[in-house]
Amino acid sequence: MTETIKTDALIIGAGPCGLFAVFELGLLDMKAHLVDILDKVGGQCAELYPEKPIYDIPGIPYITGHGLTDALMSQIKPFGPTFHLGEMVQTIEKIGDPLFRATTDGGKVFEVKVVVIAAGGGSFQPKRPPVPGIEAYEDKSVFYAVRKMDMFRDKRLLIVGGGDSALDWTLNLQPIAQRVTLMHRRDQFRAAPDSVNKMKALVAAGKMDLKLGQVTALEGEGGVLRAALAKPDKGEPYRVECDTMLPFFGLTMKLGPVANWGITLQNELIPVDTAKFETVVPGIFAIGDINTYPGKLKLILCGFHEAALMAQQAYHYVFPDKRLVFQYTTSSTSLQRKLGVA
Ligand SMILES: Cc1cc2nc3c(=O)[nH]c(=O)nc-3n(C[C@H](O)[C@H](O)[C@H](O)COP(=O)(O)OP(=O)(O)OC[C@H]3O[C@@H](n4cnc5c(N)ncnc54)[C@H](O)[C@@H]3O)c2cc1C
Repeated sequence: MTETIKTDALIIGAGPCGLFAVFELGLLDMKAHLVDILDKVGGQCAELYPEKPIYDIPGIPYITGHGLTDALMSQIKPFGPTFHLGEMVQTIEKIGDPLFRATTDGGKVFEVKVVVIAAGGGSFQPKRPPVPGIEAYEDKSVFYAVRKMDMFRDKRLLIVGGGDSALDWTLNLQPIAQRVTLMHRRDQFRAAPDSVNKMKALVAAGKMDLKLGQVTALEGEGGVLRAALAKPDKGEPYRVECDTMLPFFGLTMKLGPVANWGITLQNELIPVDTAKFETVVPGIFAIGDINTYPGKLKLILCGFHEAALMAQQAYHYVFPDKRLVFQYTTSSTSLQRKLGVA
């Protein structure tokens, strides 16, 4: 039986706002667990623009998406948050006043006093290639992510795409697969040049195959793949025998299960009040890009402000009998002790 994880706050989404929420909750002695569908923290900053500069973080004239994520991770380290990456929060149920039970698609169950929805634009989901009938093979022979490499041991793998994910998994799985074929529509790759060179060296050594073209159809039965049919820009269609296909066509953002959590959405966003950033359900908060209120700007700095006010209200649910005293980190020895600097 799955053991229930009991803690003060469950933060849904480990983007910049979810990460900063750990800090604000931590200063007020609240422990947090974070769940994110991605296999890394940082949300849009890490997934969509890791190398791009951000110029409007207060006090930091220039930082990349990756740099900001790293800085937030080091800022929240003293509070020891627990991360559950590669999992999606599917359900939230009110079981007390306030007490919530939340479940993930990875089978985890949480019981928490407050829920902080920091789900940004929703869930990042893999883009499905336009191959007729591909749904019938998904999670049986077609996978959009590699959760356990060993699943692909001794398989004939067809990896499709030309970005970093396609090239990284080609290089990582080639040693354990029976045979890897990488297929990309053209002979130019978006992936890091070093990975492309390594892949080309494996092809030259006869250790894997590279094919140009696009998958047009799949052959198999009952979700068990036998081959993929492909068509190059120029030349004749061809067939690649394979047991497994791994398409890496990037990610798209979809609202996902947020719509089923009992909160009426406004244009796919969660309405909140601007004093506490709480939803209509007491104890469930929404911060960052996922929320809406008059004047809302989808900026990281706005999400940081929202996290600070959210934590003030969350405190009253987690410690109903305690009085909250407002303090500055500059002058409070108690806060500095929590941060490990006093
Ligand atoms: C190209 C680009 C440039 C940008 N430049 C700037 C800029 O210069 N300055 C600025 O302030 N902002 C900028 N932004 C916007 C900024 O990135 C967002 O405002 C910010 O990322 C919002 O943070 P967040 O934590 O609310 O959400 P996100 O960063 O979107 O993170 C949300 C996380 O929640 C996860 N999630 C969603 N649903 C679930 C679920 N059910 N279960 C588990 N996990 C879930 C997602 O996987 C995601 O990782 C830019 C955005 C883009 C795309």
